[in-house]
Amino acid sequence: MASTSSNEAATEESVRAEVHDWLADHWNSDISLHEWRGLIADSGWGCPTWPIEFYGRGLSPDLSNVVADEFRKAGAVGPAIGVGMALAAPTLLAHAPADLKRRLLREIITGENTWCQLFSEPGNGSDLAGLTTRAWRDGDEWIVNGQKVWTTGAHHAAYGMLLARTDWDIPKHQGITFFAFPMEQAEIEVRPLQQMNYRSSFNEVFIAEARVPHNNIVGEVNGGWKVALTTLAHERNLSAGAFGGIPFGGKGKAAQEAISEAAAYMKTYDWYPQRAGRPDLVPLQAKEAGLNTDPIIRQELAKLYSLQRTSQWNVQRARAARKMGRPPGPEGSLSKLCASNIARASNDAHSHVAGAHGMLTGPDSPASGTVAEVLISTPAASIAGGTDQIQRNIIGERVLGLPKEPQIDADLPFRDVRTNK
Ligand SMILES: Cc1cc2nc3c(=O)[nH]c(=O)nc-3n(C[C@H](O)[C@H](O)[C@H](O)COP(=O)(O)OP(=O)(O)OC[C@H]3O[C@@H](n4cnc5c(N)ncnc54)[C@H](O)[C@@H]3O)c2cc1C
Repeated sequence: MASTSSNEAATEESVRAEVHDWLADHWNSDISLHEWRGLIADSGWGCPTWPIEFYGRGLSPDLSNVVADEFRKAGAVGPAIGVGMALAAPTLLAHAPADLKRRLLREIITGENTWCQLFSEPGNGSDLAGLTTRAWRDGDEWIVNGQKVWTTGAHHAAYGMLLARTDWDIPKHQGITFFAFPMEQAEIEVRPLQQMNYRSSFNEVFIAEARVPHNNIVGEVNGGWKVALTTLAHERNLSAGAFGGIPFGGKGKAAQEAISEAAAYMKTYDWYPQRAGRPDLVPLQAKEAGLNTDPIIRQELAKLYSLQRTSQWNVQRARAARKMGRPPGPEGSLSKLCASNIARASNDAHSHVAGAHGMLTGPDSPASGTVAEVLISTPAASIAGGTDQIQRNIIGERVLGLPKEPQIDADLPFRDVRTNK
């Protein structure tokens, strides 16, 4: 594990020199991805902002950019990308006991274990705290029963971030526990769902008496809601477009393995650019259709451009807050809402430019079928990671200081709450 000098004393020059020397000693283009990722995990250079005792170097985000810069210059590969790094790791770092962090974080960095998010249920998406998947204790383990849905990537995940109800006699937000849930069990059935764009990126997950060790609890028993809020705050930023990094470098064995690994992983997400509306294609398509001088279309292009610019500024504002060490806050809801607005405006503009042809697929259709996929994929942008209405509620309450949404069941024992089950 890392044995860096005190990170408080670290400066741009000292970090640059230290990581440069370390890379000169350790990076070589014949090393395997597995071996290399083990080295960056154990040295702390793979995730330099993480604490020294948990595979990091305790550096500030600014100094971590210096590390990334040196990795880039050396053509060296970084940690694995995906839900593990983007959602599970920050949640574990914030709430898990030390033993769990040590056990799980390393395999997230190396990419040996990928993760999924077992939050939503058939009857509980926006009202997540109403979830009814249950877990009860059996010695050193918990037994879990229930059904999850919309679970992206569950078909290849080694672990799930599972929310389960562990106490039915206290109010709904208080009786939930967050588990790091091993997915490779015969008692868990993952069934892919087919989407209207013919992709299959999310699943139904049926859990029938599956088991999870007691020491896989993240946070406290019945304290899972607080933990879930951390995951959701990171997810809002993710939905707004910050999906991990691309592995650095392109030469050598580890780099090639990382590129193949990322390509295989990203298959689940390869329709996400279409879900975001492909605003980049709108001016090109307008020009191709001879509509770039049409006053109505020009107005739509200007609207789309201004939405994108304001969204970029909002993302920059969120990044600046992170740099100052502030945790993700309600600005994530603004970013997410901006992303939905862009997707919708882009969908409108594509529809007006392509007209009825926008429904066609195949080589002769607009952008070889990409426009058709945009038109049926953008609705997901305003649902995934919390719907637009829920983001507006968050902004209303936490940014504008409006009164909280009336809740009739928040104080009742969950057993007495009326559900659709
Ligand atoms: C592409 C995609 C990937 C996803 N991946 C995952 C995943 O990996 N893991 C996971 O756990 N979930 C995942 N989800 C699920 C997602 O989080 C839920 O779909 C979302 O939270 C909405 O829940 P719901 O579908 O149950 O809709 P509902 O909650 O039933 O909402 C229905 C409608 O009612 C509105 N509504 C509900 N409550 C309120 C309210 N209080 N005020 C105003 N309006 C309200 C909603 O805005 C919506 O328009 C994914 C969804 C999508 C589209």
